[in-house]
Amino acid sequence: MNQSYWQKTSKKRISQTIQTDISTDIVIIGGGLSGVALAYQLKDSPFQVIVLDKDEMGSHTSGHTTAKITTLHDTLYRDIVKHYDIHQAYLYYQANQNALNEIKSIIQKEKIACDFKENTSFIYTDDPGYVSLIDDMDKIFRSLRVKTVKDEKHLASIGLEHQAIFHPLKYLYSLIQICEKKGVSFYEHSEVTRIERKDDSFLLDVNNHRIQCRYLIHATRYPFIKKGFYFLKLFQEKEYVDYVDEQKGNESYLCVDETKSYRPLPHNDSLVIHRDSKDWYAQDSIPLRGIPYIGRLNKYTNEFVIYGFQKWGMTLSQVAAKLICDLILERDNPYEELFSCHYFSMSFSKKYQYKMWQESKRGMITNRFQNKSIAVLDCQDGMVTRINGHLTAVYKDKKGQLHYLSPYCPHLKCIVEFQKKDQTWRCPCHQSIYDAYGQLLEGPSLYPLEKKNQ
Ligand SMILES: Cc1cc2nc3c(=O)[nH]c(=O)nc-3n(C[C@H](O)[C@H](O)[C@H](O)COP(=O)(O)OP(=O)(O)OC[C@H]3O[C@@H](n4cnc5c(N)ncnc54)[C@H](O)[C@@H]3O)c2cc1C
Repeated sequence: MNQSYWQKTSKKRISQTIQTDISTDIVIIGGGLSGVALAYQLKDSPFQVIVLDKDEMGSHTSGHTTAKITTLHDTLYRDIVKHYDIHQAYLYYQANQNALNEIKSIIQKEKIACDFKENTSFIYTDDPGYVSLIDDMDKIFRSLRVKTVKDEKHLASIGLEHQAIFHPLKYLYSLIQICEKKGVSFYEHSEVTRIERKDDSFLLDVNNHRIQCRYLIHATRYPFIKKGFYFLKLFQEKEYVDYVDEQKGNESYLCVDETKSYRPLPHNDSLVIHRDSKDWYAQDSIPLRGIPYIGRLNKYTNEFVIYGFQKWGMTLSQVAAKLICDLILERDNPYEELFSCHYFSMSFSKKYQYKMWQESKRGMITNRFQNKSIAVLDCQDGMVTRINGHLTAVYKDKKGQLHYLSPYCPHLKCIVEFQKKDQTWRCPCHQSIYDAYGQLLEGPSLYPLEKKNQ
């Protein structure tokens, strides 16, 4: 079970599933923070809104995050200035700063008890080789006229004050309750498996029923549809988080040169990320162009996407909610162009192309040539090998029993690999995740790994 601290410390809500055909104005696919924040923005609109999730609301990345609400998104501003320009960096900052303020005022206005607390968010390094990175960030913030502070404990650092932390699931569940009172409907265990366009509306297949709507929003974090080829413009990155029963200060920290992150929790405890973390994992999608895709799928359609938060989805889900709501209600939004889905940056994407190629090469080519004997397989481990000439994924459980699966990821037929740390199969090409017995945990795949008999 990949249960997070947030899931253990909040009361799960009981919800309905799709059991009949429905016709509505707006369907939001995905009940994570982006889908729910959008439902909240639309709750007072003249439109009837429903939110569908294939599992439970908030049960994927939004329920496994570290939930720092900050505009200090690692060293992204430096990359935006390098590959775009300072004006884009300014717009990106302003959009996220507004979102931070909006989250604060929603919590205040709705009196949401979600352990919200202001703190300072730092990025830092203790490696002399990375000091210039922090200096560059400092210069950018100065030119944006944003006040920064330092933490003398580290060789170089920048902090932004009046950032925040909260309990993401307490926040998300409260937003759902508020929306439900305004007539928004939420459906769990309601997976969208097919989308068809018919005249001016969309027809969705969900649990053997048909949902019809005029506006469709993909808030699924990573696309399960192939339309728009977003699976070539994004990749998913997996990260592990640990709960720690002690606290090292009230502020939040992120190291810029190593996998190290820290945020305090309310009861003298904290969450940390380091190289050996293992309590739970989550994936987020990384946009190759560096800036999330938030907007219309095609220029003249009522189909919208929200992808690519690159581990900064607390403020970006609010940015997306506001922007998509404005597009639907035909209101101007100053950030429409910045987040528009219709441009790409070759220079930015170079940063990730090698990594993507290496992963895809393993999934498409290298993993097809595995041929070790299953005799060397330990208990609670898995491997892909040839059995009777057929490539097979084999898992040995803790009692020593072998379980045989097809190694071909149903998404695009790449070959999966076993990850011993969390007992999962993962596809290197587009990062679908399956449990040790082949059950689907994370898309884009829509199906489990096929079981095989030996
Ligand atoms: C380890 C880690 C730490 C992070 N820490 C921070 C942080 O400190 N601060 C910060 O700002 N951001 C952080 N992030 C990023 C942030 O958590 C995410 O960007 C954000 O939660 C994504 O929200 P989402 O709604 O887009 O995705 P999700 O929460 O994953 O929601 C998508 C939903 O879509 C549903 N879905 C998918 N396909 C279908 C379908 N076909 N039909 C119906 N439903 C479907 C899924 O079930 C899921 O519930 C972190 C990310 C990770 C991985």
